[in-house]
Amino acid sequence: MIRSLVRFARLYLLWPLLLCAALTITWTGIAHGYSFLAFNLAYLGLAACLFLAERRWPYERAWLENDGQIGVDLAHTVLNKSAVQVLVAVGAVFGVAEVARGTELHGVWPGEWWLPAQVLLALVLVEAGLYAAHRLAHEWRFLWRFHAVHHSAPRLTFINTGRFHLVDTVTSILLSQPILFLAGAPIEIFKWVSATTAFIGMLTHCNVEMRFGFLNYIVNTPVLHRFHHSRDLKEGNRNYGENLMIFDLLFGTHHYARYRPSVRIGIDEPMPASFLGQMTHPFRGLFGERDGGRGKGASGGPAGRIGA
Ligand SMILES: [Zn+2]
Repeated sequence: MIRSLVRFARLYLLWPLLLCAALTITWTGIAHGYSFLAFNLAYLGLAACLFLAERRWPYERAWLENDGQIGVDLAHTVLNKSAVQVLVAVGAVFGVAEVARGTELHGVWPGEWWLPAQVLLALVLVEAGLYAAHRLAHEWRFLWRFHAVHHSAPRLTFINTGRFHLVDTVTSILLSQPILFLAGAPIEIFKWVSATTAFIGMLTHCNVEMRFGFLNYIVNTPVLHRFHHSRDLKEGNRNYGENLMIFDLLFGTHHYARYRPSVRIGIDEPMPASFLGQMTHPFRGLFGERDGGRGKGASGGPAGRIGA
C-alpha cells in the first residue's frame, strides 16, 4: 500500500517538483542579484537529477544506450543554443528595445501587475511566436532542413534537449522574443521566460517514466513530445508548443492519447554523424532537387538513420 502510494506520488509529482525547485533557485538568484549564477546552478542541478532519474526510472531502457551523439548534442547545446540565446538577448536589449522606445507599443507592458501574472502573460505572448516557428519548421520544407537536425535524434533524453541547428534557433528567437521588448517588458520578465523555457525544454525531452493527467492540456510534457518525435506523422506533426499547449488546442494540432507513444522516433532522411556535418547538411542542394521536407502529406518510414 505504502509502496504503491510512493510510486503514484513519484509518477505524478516528480515533474512539477523538479520544475518548482529549478524555478525557486532561479527566483532566489533574481531577487538577490545573482540571476546568472542561480540559473546555471538550477540548470546543472536539474540535469544531474534527470541523469539519475533516467537511470532509475527510464521510460525506454534502450534509450539509455550511447547513440554516439552525446558530444554532438552537447556541442549543439553550447554553440547553437546557449551562446546564440545570450547573443540574441544582448542584441535585443540594445537593439530592439532601443527601436521600441520610439514606437506606440512601448510602455503598454502592464508592469504594475503581480509578477507571476506578468510572467504568464509573457509566456503566452512568446508561445505564439514559438508555435508559429515550430509549425513552420515542420510544414515549410526550407525550414525543415534545419529542424531535421533536432528530429534526427534516434532517442529522447535530456541530453539532446539543445540539439538544434543555428538557423532553427535564430528563427525561433526572432519570431518569439521581440514582442516582449517591443511591449517594453522589463529584463526580469525576459529572464523568467528564458529560464522557464530552458527548464521545461529539458524536462520535456527526458527519458523518465512519469504521468501528467490534465497537465497534458496545459504545458508541454514528455508524453506529448514523444508523440511529436514519432515517425508516424499523424502524431509527429502535432504538439508544436514549446512551453504551453494553448495554441495547439486553438489550432487543432494537440495530440494526446492514453496509449504509450511509439519509441520509433527519428526521421527518414540520412543525417551526418558529426557536428560540422549536421551544420552544413541543410545547405546541401538547397537550390537543387533535394527534398528534405516533412510537410503535411509526407510519409513516415523506417529508414531514418545517423551517419549515412
Ligand atoms: Zn519539431
